[in-house]
Amino acid sequence: MPELPEVETMRRSLFPSIGMTIVSVNQPASRYRPVKMEPCIDQLQERIVNRSVVAVERLGKRVVVCLDDGSQVLFQPKMAGLVLMDTPPNETHLRLVIGLALSDSAQQASKSCVTSQILYWDQRGLGTIQHWTAEQMKGFLESGVLGPDALAVDFETFHARFRDVSRPVKPTLLDQSRVAGIGNLYASEILHRSGIHPARRCDRLSKPAWKRIFESTRTILLEAIEHEGSTLSDGTYRKSKDDPGGYQNSHRVYDRADLLCLTCGQHLIVRIVQSQRSTFFCKGCQKR
Ligand SMILES: [Zn+2]
Repeated sequence: MPELPEVETMRRSLFPSIGMTIVSVNQPASRYRPVKMEPCIDQLQERIVNRSVVAVERLGKRVVVCLDDGSQVLFQPKMAGLVLMDTPPNETHLRLVIGLALSDSAQQASKSCVTSQILYWDQRGLGTIQHWTAEQMKGFLESGVLGPDALAVDFETFHARFRDVSRPVKPTLLDQSRVAGIGNLYASEILHRSGIHPARRCDRLSKPAWKRIFESTRTILLEAIEHEGSTLSDGTYRKSKDDPGGYQNSHRVYDRADLLCLTCGQHLIVRIVQSQRSTFFCKGCQKR
């Protein structure tokens, strides 16, 4: 958490920054350990002040602010980060403030003409902020660290990236080098919707089973984007204006251990641990 739908919601909330010019970059004083930044704040200021925002993209679970020189600022929220333009949950965990001004006033760029901001907030400080040149981005994309996006990949590619893996399906869905964007929460929901037991081995699943997983992945991620993501009981994830997302009300299995399955109404949801992460499923709907 946050996963693809939450990061996509953050990305969309940054659209008003497109066309604006960066006039300042500040790291608010914090008594918590600073988030990992590459380069350091002074160099970041030097590199991005006076640049304009031309697009805001998403790369797996990262928000990418694209600048007019082809470089990008990448925010990776990891466990408890937020990228937003206003109303952070509190000031305590505000980690970076990028001041923006309308481009026509940017010639006289100074802190006094800041009309808007991009904020990075992180309750646990585990996220990262990076500034990459176009070449660095190209190198990263070619490195294979990140597979195709879960919402952009076609079925044949999706199937080919999983079908030969001799590991259980649930932890494999979290492997960002195969397909990017699926995290722990949505993996349980996707497998429940597909009727697949999370411990089934990838290479023992039929092509029609993979087709169901592929289709559930699309359906669930798109539904979750529509609801602007899931805010769990810890309340960390907020969309803009400090409001919670809405998709947590549609979860069928995640964090519902020992509650009756909402799909069959006959079995209790089971929690197991796979690769140190919780998995939730229904033994009736998702047979071994
Ligand atoms: Zn069930």
